[in-house]
Amino acid sequence: MIILKLGGSVITRKEEIRPTLDQENLQRISQEIADSKVEKILIVHGAGSYGHPHAHEYGIGNQIENNQDLTQKKMGFSITHQSVQMLNLEVCRALINEDIPAVPISPSSFIKTDKKRITDFKIDLINEYLDLGLVPVLYGDVVLDSDLKIKMAVLSGDQILQYVATKLAARRVILGTDVDGIFDRNPKKHPQAQLIPTVTSQDDLNFLEGAQTTDVTGGMSGKVEELLKLAQKGIESEIINIDKKELLKRALRGEDVVGTRILRKL
Ligand code: ADP
Repeated sequence: MIILKLGGSVITRKEEIRPTLDQENLQRISQEIADSKVEKILIVHGAGSYGHPHAHEYGIGNQIENNQDLTQKKMGFSITHQSVQMLNLEVCRALINEDIPAVPISPSSFIKTDKKRITDFKIDLINEYLDLGLVPVLYGDVVLDSDLKIKMAVLSGDQILQYVATKLAARRVILGTDVDGIFDRNPKKHPQAQLIPTVTSQDDLNFLEGAQTTDVTGGMSGKVEELLKLAQKGIESEIINIDKKELLKRALRGEDVVGTRILRKL
């Protein structure tokens, strides 16, 4: 079983303030998934410009100040959810166009967090979809949080991926983003940045800057934290550049492609 994350930076124009789809990338990526002929796959996608600007504007996940603030945050929750759901619809549409039996699954309707970490999650349902050969498509969303100080949280696609991969003991975990992997500096700002082929501990990451764009879920460093948690449980993962044509298809077929592998520390 493969778990694949499609980064918000690839399927949306992340630098935009308004939700903007990258239709060309989405179509190509869907085609690559179809061409790879993988049998059991679960897809998680990021929110990109469909989620982060809204979540940021309303301060979802920040401490609730007073009743007026709560009223605003509730509206923000609703607006953010609606927006990421529209992206999910687009992703599923693109997959279905390639004859992939995608099923949209809305995290806010069955996942809860406590202090921003997943506590409730109906994994059996996901398992049944997979057993039947359907392709569940989950995504970064807003969810209810048991912490009374925040009540609502932003749940990243990266945390969902980590949770699902652990519970389902995934065979392979692939994170597709818009850079070749983890570099010693942000490669978008520093052309001389060097790719780090393997990461095994937090010590390897102390230099990491956050993502360039307004990613309220932590950018590259948040991603690697989740993947290191997975590696500690024996599930290794790889970050690859799915902006580059054919790379995803080759990775799904089991070929070694350029990227960063997050491995268990021996
Ligand atoms: P996605 O939306 O694909 O999940 P993010 O935008 O959250 O991905 O994170 C990827 C971005 O992180 C890259 O486009 C890059 O600009 C930024 N970044 C910051 N520091 C690094 C680093 N050390 N290595 C790689 N990418 C980095």
